[in-house]
Amino acid sequence: MPDSQYQARIPIYPRAVKGRFRNLKWGVLALAYGVYFLLPWLRWEREHAANQAVLFDIPGRRFYLFDLLVHPQDIFWLAALLIILALLLFMVTGIAGRVFCGYFCFQTLWTDVFMLIERWLQGDRAARMRLAEQGGPRATALKGATHGLWLLVAFATGLTFTLYWANAPDLVVAFFTGQAAFAAYATTGFLTVTTYLLAGLLREQVCTYMCPYARFQSVMFDKDTLIVSYDADRGEGAQGRSRPVRGLRTRDEREVKGVGDCIDCGYCVQVCPVGIDIRDGLQYQCIHCALCVDACDTVMDGMKWPRGLVRYTSENALEGRRTRYFKPKTLGYAAPLVLITVLLVWGIAHQTPLDASVSQVRQPLFVQLSDGSIQNSYEIRVHNKAQHPVVLELRLTGLDGAELDTGRIDQLSLMPEQRTTLLARVRYDVPAGAPRQQGVAFELVPVEPEGMDVVRVESQFILR
Ligand code: SF4
Ligand code: SF4
Repeated sequence: MPDSQYQARIPIYPRAVKGRFRNLKWGVLALAYGVYFLLPWLRWEREHAANQAVLFDIPGRRFYLFDLLVHPQDIFWLAALLIILALLLFMVTGIAGRVFCGYFCFQTLWTDVFMLIERWLQGDRAARMRLAEQGGPRATALKGATHGLWLLVAFATGLTFTLYWANAPDLVVAFFTGQAAFAAYATTGFLTVTTYLLAGLLREQVCTYMCPYARFQSVMFDKDTLIVSYDADRGEGAQGRSRPVRGLRTRDEREVKGVGDCIDCGYCVQVCPVGIDIRDGLQYQCIHCALCVDACDTVMDGMKWPRGLVRYTSENALEGRRTRYFKPKTLGYAAPLVLITVLLVWGIAHQTPLDASVSQVRQPLFVQLSDGSIQNSYEIRVHNKAQHPVVLELRLTGLDGAELDTGRIDQLSLMPEQRTTLLARVRYDVPAGAPRQQGVAFELVPVEPEGMDVVRVESQFILR
């Protein structure tokens, strides 16, 4: 039998740790969970539309984000936003390493909560390791309760995601009375299962083997990038690390014997959620959560030695050189980031409340009337994207002496989010020697409310 190419999973039982980075992670987690779970319930007063602050209304083909209304034709905003986020991620990674992975990634946040539940029910590392070995009703009950609570959190996660796509209070009632659409059950079910699997069962395997970002983020690193590092010079000394046995309890004694500050307690390894030993150097599995920094700081505090044996630092700093945070590479990310952000903000601030387009009726392209004039027909599509009704008048420009006929429609009234298509005929008494086609423009002039900009759409008038 050839050796398997796959490594068997080594179970990891991360130990609890207290410290400033752990507190920071709890803070980020509370904020992220607060936003994610409460946002669908936040109401937002709108006169003519849904009063849910954030609502992705697929049937109505519009997304509500507080006061911003996004339509499918605004898709370039999404493209700009994704580019901004990617550039921001690359720039921050270049400066501060994998802070996204350690503090903000959904996988990290949800895994943290699942581990908290596990610790709460089964106890800390040693208790969990014992329990994993044991059988019997108590172990089964505790493990069962853990999986039950995980599923509950996973279900809450899945259902909450679904609530972003419909009016949350109505959807919850419909969901639990069996009246919701199949898509709501399918989405909730899918997310429940994936959350349970990824955060409960797979955990660090996702970061190590499944996450593509983990594989390529190192190309953004350089010697100035902040990384969680073990200071090997300080920790090892000439004779390596050693436990604080007799004769090696004080820093002075250790210095005399060439032994470093690392007391080989293993706390930094035990708290690591991906199961690596930071003392082996920078490893691609490390998500830079800095829990090992908290662990070692706790140990150093206990020994009354200076903190920082494991710390955020750069390769340059470890080698005694200055760390440069701002350099051409950083500017290379920052310049397009600022530019696209400005363009996006400008685009959102200057979005037109009316969307109009014109297409010429092509069959026939033109008609010669009995009086000798030429008639072209146009379909003008108008969408009132504003959150108030509008009354519009259609005018023709660019073709002196031409006559515009919109049937019996003098003014166009559109409710918020209403779309309509108008047939417009243009008749033109063609002067001798006129070119084969001429430019023509339609202007949608807002009559009510006052102060709205005129919207102009251009087309061609075909003479022959
Ligand atoms: S080595 Fe330290 S920073 Fe890296 S994942 Fe483990 S605990 Fe987090
Ligand atoms: S926690 Fe600090 S002292 Fe303990 S093993 Fe890790 S690096 Fe060494």
